[in-house]
Amino acid sequence: MNHASLAGVPHAAAPPHPAIVPVPAFADNYIWLLHDRERRRAAVVDPGDAAPVLAALAAAGLSLAAVLVTHHHADHVGGLPALRAAFPDAVVHGPAASLVEGIDRRWRAGDTVELEGFDARFDVIEIPGHTLDHIAFFARRIGDDDARPVLFCGDTLFAGGCGRVFEGTAAQMTASLGRLAALPDDTLVYCAHEYTTSNLRFARAVEPDSAPLAERERQTAALRAAGTPTVPSTLALERATNPFLRTGAADVRRAAEARLGHVPVDATEVFAAVRQWKDGFR
Ligand SMILES: [Zn+2]
Repeated sequence: MNHASLAGVPHAAAPPHPAIVPVPAFADNYIWLLHDRERRRAAVVDPGDAAPVLAALAAAGLSLAAVLVTHHHADHVGGLPALRAAFPDAVVHGPAASLVEGIDRRWRAGDTVELEGFDARFDVIEIPGHTLDHIAFFARRIGDDDARPVLFCGDTLFAGGCGRVFEGTAAQMTASLGRLAALPDDTLVYCAHEYTTSNLRFARAVEPDSAPLAERERQTAALRAAGTPTVPSTLALERATNPFLRTGAADVRRAAEARLGHVPVDATEVFAAVRQWKDGFR
């Protein structure tokens, strides 16, 4: 795979973390599988379906030690009962605000989750908007083989886009995306869906003259043609090309103004106008 890029333009997809692999599920979900150094224990993030996880664990000779849950949607938690039945000792970590059954340890903003045996500590970030219970897990580093931070952000920040605002408000979602945007440039962004191609098509409508976006589209097309995931991306790339993290950019504000019919008063109004446009975009 060629990850080369133009000078100054971030990679379309970052070289993946060596301890994290995707388990594809349903049409376009990624269940992220984190394995420990000896590759005998695993943790998974948002297991919407147990079957592909069980198959991946068996193929790699791994047992399941932990599960991280970002929010309550069925395509993120549907596999929990079968995974708990197969691995009764696995510890399920999830949001304090969630009604999901089968969460053993419930976490709030500012808590730190120690994944025993994984050389990984995750800060919990509350990011309501897509759902009210949504949290993200952020690790400064995982293991010794890769120094880059890792973010598991479920359906809030996507590569080139963001989740729909189903339960929260535009103000909540704007604040939540701002919390994620404040993480380090080289943070690997592991979202839960392969939506990048359609997200970038919309981003192009918002910022038609963006050179970094044109380069990302080109690289994304090449990755997808090769059957390669476009996830993870990096926060630097998202800040450069994702319209939902760019509510202060001139073209994004202009697009919002055209939709609103007036100059947007703040970032929330920009976000709301662009998100509403995306909801109806084909
Ligand atoms: Zn969701």
